[in-house]
Amino acid sequence: MPSSRRATLRTGLMWAMGLVLAAYVTGLVLHSIGLGPVWNGWFSTLVHYWLAMLTSWLPVAVCLLAIYRVGFRRTEMLLAAAAMTAYASGFIFIVWSQVTTGSVPFPSVGDGVYLLFFPLMMAALVVTVRHHVRSLAVSVWLDCAVGSLGAAAVLAVVLSPVLDSALTGPPSSATVVALAYPMGDLLLVSAVAGIATLGDLRLGSRWGFLIAGLMVFAATDVLYALQVTKGTYLVGMPLDAGWALGPALVAMWVDGGTQDKQPTHEAGPATGATALVVSVAASVAGLGVLVAGTQTRLSRLAILLAAVTLLAATARTQLGFHLLARMADLRRRDATTDELTGLPNRRALHAEAHTRLLEPQHRRQALLMLDLDKFKEVNDTLGHHAGDELLLQVGARLGEHLRARDLLVRLGGDEFAILLDDAGHDQATAVAAKLCASLTKPFTLMDIAVHSAVSIGIALFPDDGPDLSTLLRKADTAMFKAKASGNGHHVFSGADDVDLTTRLRMVEELRTALTSDQLALYYQPKVDMRTGEVKSLEALLRWNHPTLGLLYPDSFLDVVEDAGLMHAMTRVVLRIALDQATLWQADGQPLTIAINLSASSLVDTDLPEQVASMLAARKLSPEALQLEITEEFLMADRDRARNILTRLRRHGVQISVDDFGTGYSSLSYLRDLPIDELKIDRSFVLPMVDDALAAALVASTISLAHSLDLRVVAEGVENDIAYTELTALGCDQAQGFFISRPLPAVELEHWLSNRSAAGQTSDVVTEGSGRPR
Ligand code: C2E
Ligand code: CA
Ligand code: CA
Repeated sequence: MPSSRRATLRTGLMWAMGLVLAAYVTGLVLHSIGLGPVWNGWFSTLVHYWLAMLTSWLPVAVCLLAIYRVGFRRTEMLLAAAAMTAYASGFIFIVWSQVTTGSVPFPSVGDGVYLLFFPLMMAALVVTVRHHVRSLAVSVWLDCAVGSLGAAAVLAVVLSPVLDSALTGPPSSATVVALAYPMGDLLLVSAVAGIATLGDLRLGSRWGFLIAGLMVFAATDVLYALQVTKGTYLVGMPLDAGWALGPALVAMWVDGGTQDKQPTHEAGPATGATALVVSVAASVAGLGVLVAGTQTRLSRLAILLAAVTLLAATARTQLGFHLLARMADLRRRDATTDELTGLPNRRALHAEAHTRLLEPQHRRQALLMLDLDKFKEVNDTLGHHAGDELLLQVGARLGEHLRARDLLVRLGGDEFAILLDDAGHDQATAVAAKLCASLTKPFTLMDIAVHSAVSIGIALFPDDGPDLSTLLRKADTAMFKAKASGNGHHVFSGADDVDLTTRLRMVEELRTALTSDQLALYYQPKVDMRTGEVKSLEALLRWNHPTLGLLYPDSFLDVVEDAGLMHAMTRVVLRIALDQATLWQADGQPLTIAINLSASSLVDTDLPEQVASMLAARKLSPEALQLEITEEFLMADRDRARNILTRLRRHGVQISVDDFGTGYSSLSYLRDLPIDELKIDRSFVLPMVDDALAAALVASTISLAHSLDLRVVAEGVENDIAYTELTALGCDQAQGFFISRPLPAVELEHWLSNRSAAGQTSDVVTEGSGRPR
């Protein structure tokens, strides 16, 4: 059937159903006010039999069309249609007996068919709810049960006379059938009430039609049963309209099903408002029934249902309390737990310290503040995942050395704190030493052995402060001190506070240094090991501090980095180095100057263009400049590093990888980056004289670098044995105290001219004679 025809048919059927219903109701009303008898005979036959029959069959037709339109796919619609068909068929039988024999036997086959309505309708309800609910919490089912039982209890009270009269006398098939109708209604009403507690289900607006239809059915049945019991029931009165209205409403529900896309499966978590109203109402009703039972005689069923309602409501409340308590517990635990490590967090430390520091016994406490030394590097080079893993392993390892009374917390980032109970200076330092030792053993992250270390600052209670915030501040200061000294741990002392002030003052002094001429570069030559020539130098920064004298980079680079001054400092270094290169070029002595870039220069995206314009402004060729970067720079953000290096290379600037061997990069990885030179870290070169393993490492690095077409420079060459050995291994350049210490520009010029005067060239080098210092 084309869909337009189906639509027309549907509209026709709906109109017919409405008109017939209206006509039937009008007929009943006319009959009830006494107009009926005027046309008695054909009028009452028309109303009571034929119109009544149509009011039950037209809804069946509406249902069947709807089912046809959705392609017989919807079980709940099929079941509802079957229930209505049973209902309409039962009616045919009654009319048939009335017309043929003039009376209706009770019970009869018709009742059997009629009664099928209840199980079929129940099944339709169950399927509908199942469609919308995959799995519901126990609490929701309990709500549902409380609602159902409460409704059932009330209905049982209403039906008390019916139940009583049906139960007086010996039970017969007639009693059973007579009881079956109100019981069926009782079941349907309680099911509907139960479903109403699931009010948050997205059952759609048409759900109202079904509820209304079933309530009308049930109300009509109940009133009918009561009237029959009292002997007041009359056929053809407006009450009968309920049996016509009920099917029409249910048919509207089935018809509405054709508009659903698919039954929605989301059973939004019951927000509980409807459930609460229904279950409170049910409990009140159950209580009411029990109270009423003490005043008047009620059916035993009503009392029983009321009692069970209250029991179910109690169970529901119990469960509610339990859930609430658990939720509160989880909340509390969530708030005081570190998400990553599962350790207690800063809030937990505050809570615990609060109680411990206020205890009347005033036990000694030690607060240890821990900061991982290489965490940022691990995070930058191996990624955040490895960083997280490291924190987890560190947390676990720290825990191994603590007593149950000690509280270990993660403060955030790579910072941990430990509150040692009943511990003074000696116990605290002993524990700190143990923890430091334990964290120096390598960690395995992504199959790589990673070395970490920790700096621990210690503050003691009550000596260093009366409250946690004072202790935290002092432990933090002590931790900085431990970090700076590299000693692992440090107990706070009054002088440390002065250190912090010193650090702050240094930042201010550095700002001044950057704009005055306190910063200077010292130059250290790199010797070509084959020719003995010096073509390039490394520029090393020095600070002529107005009061402290000459400062080396290790004493202030940290502060520069922390204060965010690295960018400005690199610009100053570049300017001094390139100005110097210009002078040497003018003197006819062109030298390549290497300057050091810190890893944070990676964020400096216009560095390549700045370098190019600085070179151009001085009419310098790009060979005048070389940049030394560390593995840390390369690994932090590979794409960024590659981008910056490629642009620098495009301008003709050479790139050197400094301190090679101390980071996590591998030679094969370096192959993919635009690099010209490797500088083997001095920690490998220094011991190679008396350490075969170090010598072997240097040898293999040299040959691998050569296979990748990279130039190799050995730094930290301190004596002729190392120099000779490196020459034999084919190292390209050497730098170190054995050749020369870093010197101011003027002194370096002297050194260079002395050197050429002494004729120290390649021949001398191959002969292995000493180098001037
Ligand atoms: P680096 O780049 O590894 O520089 C080499 C360091 O080793 C220099 O220390 C140098 O004086 C020292 N050295 C040279 N030959 C020998 C030797 O034979 N034996 C030993 N034991 N040491 C030797 P310096 O000048 O104190 O610089 C320390 C670090 O500071 C440098 O390490 C570099 O990373 C950084 N740095 C220096 N200047 C700058 C700069 O202008 N910018 C940046 N970002 N960092 C710089
Ligand atoms: Ca360097
Ligand atoms: Ca180096």
